[in-house]
Amino acid sequence: MTYVEEVMDRVKKMNPGEPEFQLAVKEVLQSIEPVVAAHEEEYRKSQLLERLVEPERSVSFRVPWVDDKGDLHINRGYRVQFNSALGPYKGGLRFHPTVNRSVLNFLAFEQTFKNALTGQSIGGGKGGANFNPKGKSDREIMAFCQSFMSELFKYIGPNEDVPAGDIGVGGREIGYLYGQYKRLTNQYEGTLTGKGLGYGGSLVRTEATGYGLVYITEEMLNASGKTLKGATVAVSGSGNVATYAVEKAQQMGAKVVTVSDSDGYIYDPNGIKVEVVKDIKEERRGRISDYAKEVAGSEYFQGKKVWDVKCDVALPCAIQYELELEDAKKLVSNGCIAVAEGANMPTTEEATEYLQSQGVLFMPGKASNAGGVAVSALEMSQNSMRIRRSFEEVDKQLNDIMKDIWAQVSTAADDYNRSGNYVAGANIAGFRRVVKAMRDQGWV
Ligand code: NDP
Repeated sequence: MTYVEEVMDRVKKMNPGEPEFQLAVKEVLQSIEPVVAAHEEEYRKSQLLERLVEPERSVSFRVPWVDDKGDLHINRGYRVQFNSALGPYKGGLRFHPTVNRSVLNFLAFEQTFKNALTGQSIGGGKGGANFNPKGKSDREIMAFCQSFMSELFKYIGPNEDVPAGDIGVGGREIGYLYGQYKRLTNQYEGTLTGKGLGYGGSLVRTEATGYGLVYITEEMLNASGKTLKGATVAVSGSGNVATYAVEKAQQMGAKVVTVSDSDGYIYDPNGIKVEVVKDIKEERRGRISDYAKEVAGSEYFQGKKVWDVKCDVALPCAIQYELELEDAKKLVSNGCIAVAEGANMPTTEEATEYLQSQGVLFMPGKASNAGGVAVSALEMSQNSMRIRRSFEEVDKQLNDIMKDIWAQVSTAADDYNRSGNYVAGANIAGFRRVVKAMRDQGWV
């Protein structure tokens, strides 16, 4: 057994019933095998990989809350503090019925390498609850957020752990969480990011993940002599990441023809009207099917995925494992040349391998969606310095960071004879930075 196989075996034994986490570890460890082989003796001696796959700390807690009818509900909240070699734990909070320890271990592990790629001083973490915000009233959301924070506040702080939003946690929820944090600690400090602009939030944070995704996609296309300008793009999802990916791609001259939610997708051959999506999703909190009722020429497909549509570039921006092998085959047969992940691990392992084998340019989420956390780190620095940067300034920093991530990922792939394999490149580049800091800090 190789060292990597031994560690994989250990992860399976120590985390039974955690398929998402096991898969995430496997993907990373397999791609860093050449780096490990070159340093095996040293890594074994310091149990480096064993430490890398074990979260530094993980808490779970009861979240009781009362609905509008006066009935009591109990959910389970979590925070996984995976790795602090590079800085305070940083990663989003997800409120979704599928949240469990395996999903959060996977996300927190991935986050560690993603954060490393940003070049900022942030470690990896993730949290959330198996709470379904869909259909809940504003008061119920507030009650849940307040109860959740009444436990979480014990484990977080501006130099310790700085959560942000993720699926089901947007600006409204961050506001309620921050209000309760402040009430409990009596501190007005940057412990959460994605805050409102009136109370410490950074300009561009809302747009950052979607914009960053488009910036790095353009870099990847340009390196192959292609561009987004004039391209037809399929986007899945209609949440935070999807909406701003649509906006930026269209600003850069692409035509985005789809958006979706978990019920179905919209096809608009004239190009998605992002203002309508924002109005439906951010203002009215409605369903994407409403789009077809409001925009002439568009069509709604109930229970279907956007990957049925012909496109040059696909940007999966909804949820994990939404792009499966069958979907990948459709994309390839429809002439798709590039896939860049806005969501975390939206492409299954088989689909990723298939796309790569067919010569489709493929950028993994830990590189391509890192813009959100990068601007979160910029929000942290603005909070510490008590300053506020302009939209243009932050957007330029975001663009520079995405260009730098592109350079790191493609160079790392070249360094290990995997040119064009950006999955390997992202894992290797992130791993190198985390591991150097871990080595320097000794056996902790
Ligand atoms: P949101 O909650 O804002 O949006 C999620 C979107 O995905 C919604 O439109 C949702 O629809 C849709 N969706 C959920 N399940 C499915 C499904 N099975 N099929 C099609 N659509 C579906 O989340 P975000 O936009 O913030 O996050 C999206 C992804 O991006 C996640 O994987 C997240 O981890 C990742 N990410 C987010 C970052 C951020 O800054 N927000 C940063 C980096 C990564 P519905 O309303 O029906 O559930």
